[in-house]
Amino acid sequence: PIYLIQDRLVPKEEVRVSPDDRGYYFGDGIYEVFRVYGGKLFEAEAHFKRLERTAAAVRIDLPAASSELKKQLEQLIAANSLIEGTVYLQITRGTTPRAHAFPAQAEPVLMAYTTEVKRPVHMMQQGIAVVTMEDIRWLRCDLKTLNLLPNTLAKQHALDRGADDVVLHRSGLVTECSASNVMIVKQGAVITHPADNLILHGITRAVALRLARELGIPVAETPFTLDDLRQADEAFVTGTTIEVTPVISVDGLPVATGNPGPVTRRLQQAFEQAIASVIPQ
Ligand code: PMP
Repeated sequence: PIYLIQDRLVPKEEVRVSPDDRGYYFGDGIYEVFRVYGGKLFEAEAHFKRLERTAAAVRIDLPAASSELKKQLEQLIAANSLIEGTVYLQITRGTTPRAHAFPAQAEPVLMAYTTEVKRPVHMMQQGIAVVTMEDIRWLRCDLKTLNLLPNTLAKQHALDRGADDVVLHRSGLVTECSASNVMIVKQGAVITHPADNLILHGITRAVALRLARELGIPVAETPFTLDDLRQADEAFVTGTTIEVTPVISVDGLPVATGNPGPVTRRLQQAFEQAIASVIPQ
């Protein structure tokens, strides 16, 4: 595999990471995961906008403009002959001996690589089981930073209970999942937590809401409760790799009939068309 390190393409074996990288000490860095369909970055502009927003909020200078970074990622995709998969991009604040204060000099460290990932067709068809868990994260969950310990603990909590993921809540108000956003359907309307400081502003979330509006499905970006989730007509999650995936049970109890619902299916079809429309023929 070929990696992008700063602005250079290098074989993985030649990549060197310093023990003084602040990402390693503090999780002091930011990241993005891009989807690649047909060799092309999907929703690239939205991902770069989110990266710029996070970078500004945590005061990390991006090593190049988004337009330049995009070209570099395209070269990375080509160098790895990637057709269907993801690009992981992270930028840490830099490399200096451990000290909390921002380094005066350190240059941000960029690293990116590609992974071949097939669309999770089976999971999207069957749906997933979730368990609920208190959201113990900080109050800037809208920033895509490397500090993912609560998310890894949450994901493992689900796996240890034989579930696929968690639905997180703050005192009963549902926020999101360990690495995806969550939506319910009630009386034909799609309901999801507003894009504020308590959730990641998922790119797939935005695409799903756009598609819902185009289909004439009512959308409400408003918090809903665990009880709303348990009594929902349908529930589904959205994310870069899982796309639109039905939730068929919550804490071991079925959502409605325990089968993926019609609104979820319509959104999945629309999402499929959105992908097809950007793949070069
Ligand atoms: N929430 C969290 C906590 C995430 O980590 C992710 C994806 N990495 C998402 C939501 C979904 O965002 P996206 O649709 O941009 O992948």
